[in-house]
Amino acid sequence: MDYAKYQRLLSEKVETSFVQWSQQKTVTESELYTFLHTLKGTSGTIGLTDLAEFCSAHLDILSPEDEAGIPVSSLKNFKKNIRMLVNGSEKKDRGNLVPDVYSQRFDQNTFVLVIDNDLEFISFVKDLLEQLGAQVLVALNGARGIQQFYDMKPNLLMIDLELPDMTGIDVYRKIQETASDRHVISMLMSSSRTDDVIIQTYEAGMMDCIRKPLDLRLFLPYLFNRETLRKTIGQSITTDGLTGIGNRKRLSEVLEYFEKMAIRAGEPFSVVMIDLDHFKSVNDTYGHHTGDEVLKRFSSIALQVKRETDGIFRFGGEEFVLVISGGEEKAFTLTERLHSAFNEQEFQAGGRTFSVTFSAGIAEYAHNTDELLVEADQALYQAKRSGRDRTAVYEKAMAEMKRRLQVIIVDDDLLIRTMLEEELAGWTLPGVDLSVRLFEDGVSFLAADWYDSETSFIVLLDGIMPGMDGLEVLERLKRRKDANNILVSMMTARTSDEDIKSALRLGADDYLMKPFQKEDVLARIQNLASRMF
Ligand code: GH3
Ligand code: MG
Ligand code: MG
Repeated sequence: MDYAKYQRLLSEKVETSFVQWSQQKTVTESELYTFLHTLKGTSGTIGLTDLAEFCSAHLDILSPEDEAGIPVSSLKNFKKNIRMLVNGSEKKDRGNLVPDVYSQRFDQNTFVLVIDNDLEFISFVKDLLEQLGAQVLVALNGARGIQQFYDMKPNLLMIDLELPDMTGIDVYRKIQETASDRHVISMLMSSSRTDDVIIQTYEAGMMDCIRKPLDLRLFLPYLFNRETLRKTIGQSITTDGLTGIGNRKRLSEVLEYFEKMAIRAGEPFSVVMIDLDHFKSVNDTYGHHTGDEVLKRFSSIALQVKRETDGIFRFGGEEFVLVISGGEEKAFTLTERLHSAFNEQEFQAGGRTFSVTFSAGIAEYAHNTDELLVEADQALYQAKRSGRDRTAVYEKAMAEMKRRLQVIIVDDDLLIRTMLEEELAGWTLPGVDLSVRLFEDGVSFLAADWYDSETSFIVLLDGIMPGMDGLEVLERLKRRKDANNILVSMMTARTSDEDIKSALRLGADDYLMKPFQKEDVLARIQNLASRMF
């Protein structure tokens, strides 16, 4: 059925209400409620499902009786979103890209990094993969892509052959060792998929060379095939490729064994959680290859220092876990020995000599191993906070001193702020103290005193705001020297491709399309957060 006529009528009706609001200057919550309620009914009926969803999300947080006035000026974005959804945005919306059998086939463990300069393509792939249930990060050039690769640990890489600063093959060469250690699925994409390009792809160690534009009939089965393979490999491998020591999976097996011995024979054991200090600046100054050398050296020293009954594992990135038979005093002595052995090490790169330190947190087994790791991590956090290059032993009081994560929402739309705040209120992350802060414009956000170097931040930044627009806020934020504990997700309208491009160029880590489902936003924040710690 052709709904065009009805959509036009609806559009006129919406505009009439908007005009009336401007004359009033404020709208009461109950008026807004009634408006959205009617709009929801109509839009659902005439096939504007996105609009209907948008209305119900907003209705959830409004009260039909509240007479509190909302300034019409703060509804700018709200109105814009409604206009967009009423007027032909349906054409822009890609709708269902994937057949139902494939939808939500991935979970958020499938974390994809797309390195490409073609925004049309990027937003298409992002939509596609998100409909499959995966999470997607994007980078517009090679250098940013490499950094994202190390920081966010994606498990699927899609790299375009032609990037503004280097070729896709060059990008992969730089990260090849780590990528293959982590069994990352890697594909090169090119519109000129010549034999020559294919040969180079394979020689660089990438898995496949894919033709652009994507042929979904081939691409989807291919993708599932590779993802299944990756998961199978992940389940069977227990050694870390770079350092040769056990990985996280091996750690769980060993902890299980130690736990059994503790229960059966009353043998105490402890874990030491270790994190190298300022490792990002080692990478930034000397390159990731040198960073890798440091990781290898750390492992080999730990292997020499530990006793045969102890175990050393790579927990992730530059984090390691020692499992030590004996109580916390034993663990402390051993850690200190490791400390002096490692601190003495000199590394050479680019004609310079440098050394690296680490911080460590110790906890002794009491009830269960998950708790044990959280406690060791809390102690590690203490060691970091009290100056790094030191060891802290877990004490109950530390439970109060959790790692802090603050989600900051900067949006002039009151409804969005309230909706996200409510959605976040019910969420907890083990060992993390989560807080939410709201700002109604960029100026007050930049002027406020929210920053703290020991807290991690996720900033959801609206693209269009009165006063200073989101891009400018982003630019100022990224100019900070200490911004590496701040992750920014830009919220933009589905129509503004140019805004997305500028946001990514200015260093946004992620972007979200408005209007969105609040559940999706929460899932993304959760996933980003789990990768920040
Ligand atoms: P802090 O003292 O607070 O721990 O500072 P940091 O710089 O070490 O901070 P953080 O833990 O946030 O950063 C760790 C960095 O380690 C992020 C990432 O770029 C890098 N990294 C993760 N895995 C690898 C890897 O396999 N090789 C290299 N070279 N770098 C990695
Ligand atoms: Mg770390
Ligand atoms: Mg570190």
